[in-house]
Amino acid sequence: MSENERLDPKLENCERLTVLSVESSPFVRLMTSALRNAGCNFNISRHISCEACGKGMAGGYDRKTNQIVLCTDYCQDIERVTATLSHELVHMYDHCTTTINFGDINHLACTEVRAANLVDCKNPLPSILNGETRTAWRAQ
Ligand SMILES: [Zn+2]
Repeated sequence: MSENERLDPKLENCERLTVLSVESSPFVRLMTSALRNAGCNFNISRHISCEACGKGMAGGYDRKTNQIVLCTDYCQDIERVTATLSHELVHMYDHCTTTINFGDINHLACTEVRAANLVDCKNPLPSILNGETRTAWRAQ
């Protein structure tokens, strides 16, 4: 397999922007330090993954793997990466610090409202991927 076939430029760009966002966004920095202060481990390469997702998806939080997914089609500029990452970090924080049942619509609504209030979402309506283990954020 050649280098060109192996490396997806969108994936590379998403990962580059993710590192930039974690280093430069005040809100993202606040959330990652809040996670660490709460005793929740946070490591970019372990806890954030850029992936090709379904059409119209911005990102998601997978509680089974405790991992934030950033969708490579959507997350191609720093504003989108930071907004999506900020939103999903709220879910990660809620999952680590409280007992959230993502299968319970009331719990799901609670964490979505918190994420939407803390981050200026264009479209905070939740949907669920992979049964009840993932929250996902649709791109506007
Ligand atoms: Zn959400």
